[in-house]
Amino acid sequence: MRIANLSGRLALIADGRAIDVERASRGVFAADPQAVYERWDEFRAWAAGAQLPAGAPFETADLGSPAPAPRQTLAIGLNYRDHAAESGFAAPDGLPPVFTKYVTSISGPVTRVALPPGGHTDWEVELVAVIGARAEKVAEADAWRHVAGLAVGQDLSERVAQLAGPAPQFSLGKSYPGFAPIGPWLVTLDEFDNPDDLELRCTVNGEEVQKGHTRDLIFSVPALIAGLSAVLPLLPGDVLFTGTPAGVGLGRDPQRFLRPGDELVSTVEGIGELRQTFIG
Ligand code: ZN
Repeated sequence: MRIANLSGRLALIADGRAIDVERASRGVFAADPQAVYERWDEFRAWAAGAQLPAGAPFETADLGSPAPAPRQTLAIGLNYRDHAAESGFAAPDGLPPVFTKYVTSISGPVTRVALPPGGHTDWEVELVAVIGARAEKVAEADAWRHVAGLAVGQDLSERVAQLAGPAPQFSLGKSYPGFAPIGPWLVTLDEFDNPDDLELRCTVNGEEVQKGHTRDLIFSVPALIAGLSAVLPLLPGDVLFTGTPAGVGLGRDPQRFLRPGDELVSTVEGIGELRQTFIG
């Protein structure tokens, strides 16, 4: 199953067409896409059994994030060995670095993003998991059951702000408006042959800059949920950015950052793509 946020309303995506959930359910489920995660099991059961109307065509530019207003966004740094190495850090032993992307940075999949003046804005394609059931002290073996589905995420990062000062400012440097595109929709786990092994890719103006596989995550999605939920509860609708593989601009020689007019396309196998263009 695929669910989307179409012009702020929850939609089911089937055969490339969108079905409005509030109308199809006669108001049983609200239009607010963020609200569905509180009733995720009930919603899944309804969607599996309902007689659904034919969907309507839509434009990807009208999609928002499938989780537009999570109470918590947890983002993970240094979760691929090759990316930790290119960033000049040792790979983590315990939980990797955790930061947030503030909710105002979240956007839909197809956007124009303003580059902060004087900054070095970089790309990080990531697998995003959205929580579908409260997770508190969850065992790794039970963790996937707490995930509603997966989406593509782009952890845009302004490196000057991120790395300035006596201690890094990960959360601020990664939270400029539009710096957390998520989408293009949420794909439930039953749609994947193996949700622990998905290819991620990222291109700038058509040139491939990142290519990795989630099987190379140091902390898999279940391991992250186990480790994080040992510290704090993860709530329905929370967003988890799982980290990026090698190939970011900061780690290149010479370094390379996004410029006005650049087009960034971020892809995860079996989900779809994000498309960002940048303005000065
Ligand atoms: Zn990241």
